[in-house]
Amino acid sequence: MLNIVLFGPPGAGKGTQSEKIIASYGLTHLSTGDLFRKHLGEGTDLGNLAKKYMDEGHLVPDEVVIQMVEHKINTTDESKGFIFDGFPRTTAQAEALDVMLGKHGMKISGMIALDVPQDILKERIKERGKTSGRADDQDEEKINTRIKVYLAETLPVAAYYEKQGKFKNINGVGKIEEIFDEISRVINSY
Ligand code: AMP
Repeated sequence: MLNIVLFGPPGAGKGTQSEKIIASYGLTHLSTGDLFRKHLGEGTDLGNLAKKYMDEGHLVPDEVVIQMVEHKINTTDESKGFIFDGFPRTTAQAEALDVMLGKHGMKISGMIALDVPQDILKERIKERGKTSGRADDQDEEKINTRIKVYLAETLPVAAYYEKQGKFKNINGVGKIEEIFDEISRVINSY
C-alpha cells in the first residue's frame, strides 16, 4: 500500500500532480481543500464553518480538518492507498494522521515536496484565479496571507517527515510531465 503526502505551498502544483499520480498508481485522492469546497457548495454546517477561514486565507482549525479526514479514511474501502493533498498542514495534523493510519495498520510511505519560488507561486495562483472561481485565488492580500500561513504553520510539517527519513524535495518549476517523472522516480523507490 502506498500513502503519499504531496506537500508544497499554495500554487505549487499539488492538484495537477495529484491527478497524474492517481491516474498512474490508482490511489485515492484526499484533498482537504476540495473536501471543504464540496461542503461549501452543498451548504453544509462544516462548509459554512470552513468558509470563514478559507475566505481569509487562514487555516481551518485542526480538530475540524482531522475529523473530516478521519471520516474519509474510515469510509474508503478497497483502496490501494491515499494521496494526501493539502493535508497535513500543521504538525498536530501530521501527528493525528499517523495515529489514524495506525488504527488501520497503515503508514505514510513518504512525503514529496514541490519546491517553487514565491514570485512564481503568486503568478500561478493569480492565473488560476481567472478560471477557478476561488475567492482566495483572486485577491493579492489573501494570496500573501496564504503564503505567510504556509511558511509559519505548514513548513514545520516538512521537518516532521524529515525526522522520520520520509522527506523528499523536488523542483516544482518546469514542464508538468518532467515534474511528474521526477515524482514517479521517488514513488517507485518506496
Ligand atoms: P487548498 O485548496 O489546499 O489551497 O485549500 C484551500 C483552503 O482550505 C486553505 O486556504 C484553508 O483555508 C483550507 N484548508 C485546506 N486544507 C486544510 C488543512 N489541511 N488545514 C487547515 N485548513 C485547510
